[in-house]
Amino acid sequence: MGDDLDRLLGEIERRFCGSVSVSGDVKKTEQLKEKQTKSSSSKSKGPVCSDNEDLDDFIDKLLEEDREISPTKQAERSPKGAAVKTYSSLTGDRKCAPVFIGGSSAQRGIGTSTSQRSCDQLRCTSCDFSVVTFEDSEWDPSCDYLFFRNNVPERWKLQSMLNSRQGFRSYCCQCSWTAVRELRELRELRELLQWVCSGKHLL
Ligand SMILES: [Zn+2]
Ligand SMILES: [Zn+2]
Repeated sequence: MGDDLDRLLGEIERRFCGSVSVSGDVKKTEQLKEKQTKSSSSKSKGPVCSDNEDLDDFIDKLLEEDREISPTKQAERSPKGAAVKTYSSLTGDRKCAPVFIGGSSAQRGIGTSTSQRSCDQLRCTSCDFSVVTFEDSEWDPSCDYLFFRNNVPERWKLQSMLNSRQGFRSYCCQCSWTAVRELRELRELRELLQWVCSGKHLL
């Protein structure tokens, strides 16, 4: 069958191409050529072209989506990450760990194992009062529970029972009091002082 078809097509070609002198045949060939080009353009080129366009559109859309997704994803990721980091550094690191108290020469602020500062944001878990501090002083031995119970947190009243002592820092809440010169970890004094870092340090 294929051979027959080839032979037939060959014969048609020979007849049309060879018979240029015959006007009618030329017209026929021209018409045939037109039909061939039309059909080829509509059958092969046409659909391929539209397919290509579809494919191009599809690829463009994909690329656009990629372009849209990836920068937003990145943009979302980095600020979120940064925000979380900032949040943790602002809140998580605002509490002393461990908590130190120290003399007047000890730097005040957030205490860490590497940066041993005396906490200036102490709060008593027993009386729920903020711890009041005084520089270069110690409590008079005559101080008692009632004195602090009645006078904390009024500094001017508390000062009346302070004696000047260089290098010491006096601490008190409504239920307990102390004065120290050396830096001390608060957990060593847990039996005497129920103080914790309130975490209200400013950065
Ligand atoms: Zn603290
Ligand atoms: Zn207390």
